[in-house]
Amino acid sequence: MKSIYRGWQEKHAPEFIEGTEENFVLVTAMNKKMVWTAHSTCDSEQLTPGAHWFNDSCCWDTFGWYVSKTPWTDKGFYVDTSWTGFCIECNEDGEGAEIDPECTTCEGEGTITEYLD
Ligand SMILES: [Zn+2]
Repeated sequence: MKSIYRGWQEKHAPEFIEGTEENFVLVTAMNKKMVWTAHSTCDSEQLTPGAHWFNDSCCWDTFGWYVSKTPWTDKGFYVDTSWTGFCIECNEDGEGAEIDPECTTCEGEGTITEYLD
């Protein structure tokens, strides 16, 4: 997962643009093949090819856009920018039986989310 993100970063050398309405007008006027949308989903955070404004569907929200130096070629190619795993301190097996509400690593969640961007 991390290596996909790193590879994407190297290939596209993107520049981040804040998710505002003015900037949305800006990115939709650009070549859509040079734009990626950074947004949340119900599971993880993701980059989706093209300029999108997600703000009304379930847990999908647009944070902003990345303007790439090279175009994307596959509109079905998503990049995960966050990753959720089990807490190594109190929930290593993922069963959840030993989750420690006082755990300082996961704050009692039993999972840890790492953000790559
Ligand atoms: Zn923990």
